[in-house]
Amino acid sequence: ASGYTLLRDPHFNKGLAFTAQERDAHFLRGLLPPTVISQETQVKKFIQLIRQYQVPLLKYVAMMDLQERNERLFYKLLIDHVEELLPVVYTPTVGEACQKYGSIFSNPQGLFISLKEKGRILEVLRNWPEMNIQVIVVTDGERILGLGDLGCQGMGIPVGKLSLYTALGGVRPSACLPITIDVGTNNEKLLNDELYIGLRHKRATGKEYDELLHEFMAAVKQNYGEKILVQFEDFANHNAFDLLERYRSTHLVFNDDIQGTASVVLAGLVAALKLVGGNLADHKFLFLGAGEAGTGIAELIALEISKRTDAQVEEVRKNIWLVDSKGLIVSSRKESLQQFKKPWAHEHEPITDLVEAINQLKPTVLIGTSGQGQTFTQEVVEAMASNNEKPIILALSNPTSQSECTAEQAYNWTQGRAIFASGSPFDPVEIDGKKYVPGQANNAYIFPGFGLGLIMSGTIRVHDDMLLAASEALASQVSEQDYEKGLIYPPFTNIRKISANIAAKVAAKSYELGLATRLPQPKDLVKFAESCMYTPTYRSYR
Ligand code: NAP
Ligand code: MN
Repeated sequence: ASGYTLLRDPHFNKGLAFTAQERDAHFLRGLLPPTVISQETQVKKFIQLIRQYQVPLLKYVAMMDLQERNERLFYKLLIDHVEELLPVVYTPTVGEACQKYGSIFSNPQGLFISLKEKGRILEVLRNWPEMNIQVIVVTDGERILGLGDLGCQGMGIPVGKLSLYTALGGVRPSACLPITIDVGTNNEKLLNDELYIGLRHKRATGKEYDELLHEFMAAVKQNYGEKILVQFEDFANHNAFDLLERYRSTHLVFNDDIQGTASVVLAGLVAALKLVGGNLADHKFLFLGAGEAGTGIAELIALEISKRTDAQVEEVRKNIWLVDSKGLIVSSRKESLQQFKKPWAHEHEPITDLVEAINQLKPTVLIGTSGQGQTFTQEVVEAMASNNEKPIILALSNPTSQSECTAEQAYNWTQGRAIFASGSPFDPVEIDGKKYVPGQANNAYIFPGFGLGLIMSGTIRVHDDMLLAASEALASQVSEQDYEKGLIYPPFTNIRKISANIAAKVAAKSYELGLATRLPQPKDLVKFAESCMYTPTYRSYR
């Protein structure tokens, strides 16, 4: 290929880092100014540029431009400055990018499969330039973060998630395929926006929806084989649970909103036991919000406890209570409850007030997964604090504005006794000269390593025990120093090491269950995971 083509190919381009020899060998002389700089210098230059932008969306656009121009530099930058750039390429900024996707995007970064492609999905998959795909992240755009239905513009989500698969989990970028399924949108604003990029009609539902998804799942397996990982992302809960149920026995599927969230939160709870003492089985849990996150977490907690105590899951569930928009989930409501809530309908009189529920049930752990901000009021938090020496309070709703309470409120209202973590990041808080550092229950701790573990072992089905293994692996990465600060999650700076450990534990479980096809089993799975991980340092071209 000509030098010019090389400069325009994001997989190979190194910009000013092409050496003199490479410039000679690949017809690059004159196409670049004379200076040669290192990748480290390029990273330094670019991070300074990013920091100059005050508006987060501009940082995002600059990152996307870089990804399209020089892939290795993009990933090096992301890895070297992960804490700073995670909120740029993923939540919260990615949400704003999706809202404005129609006006900021020029180059497609993934595949769009709409109702118009019905009957031709296999053909569409074959239009993608890469054949060796290992992981697909797919959305239908109906429940993007806490922002609701963004239709076809949800594409930013699979793109962002997959860049984390690569940066945090070391999955090769060329093995990642972002897909958006477009069945329409119920978002009136988008339907009337002249720059909207998707189909301009209401969402298809029922048979029409199911058939498109079925064709998609079949085509994916036919084209990429049994070991292709399909991660469902940001589907509304009325489809999310059904899809997972329908395909978990025939495909390697994973829903991050349900299962990834459950695994990361369970890890935080296991770690929190170091601070509060006792076992999970000694605790009582109350959730505000009984959707994908709430019931997903609840189910995994119940599974973990039942494994550890030999108690029946049904028995363990009785210590876990959930509140939805209509109040406490109780048996008298059972008839009208959605399927995924039914296991939580325990015997109790109806309660609609959260403080009342806390005072009657006396939970030791309060978890917010309702998407409703400021619902852990002072009264709520104080009720937790009066019943517990060290109440565990997790305010998981995103984005920051929707958090059930802030870190400052949680620590202040409990005189610093709360063990607190949140979905969106909060700065450390100081009370009476003592510093409290809130943890962030970010799904990005789990899914990249989880996916790597599945991929490197050639796993063909996800089993819940693998989620438990991932939680334990993450919890074991919290250090004494972290605990001293009140943290129940490790810092993100070590995320690649954390991911390798998670991958190893997940793969080990897969081999144990006979679901891994890469045989024989590697002796040292952590080393193996590390050896599988993509690193973005430049290669030399001779
Ligand atoms: P979802 O499936 O739509 O569930 C939302 C639940 O909240 C539903 O059960 C809903 O009740 C309930 N709810 C709504 N308003 C309420 C109110 N005023 N009082 C009590 N309950 C109320 O959404 P999801 O996927 O579970 O996500 C929920 C939130 O969790 C989002 O903000 C998301 O960003 C956050 N999240 C955080 C993490 C993380 O921290 N790592 C991971 C995943 C999700 P009905 O069922 O009655 O409608
Ligand atoms: Mn999600």
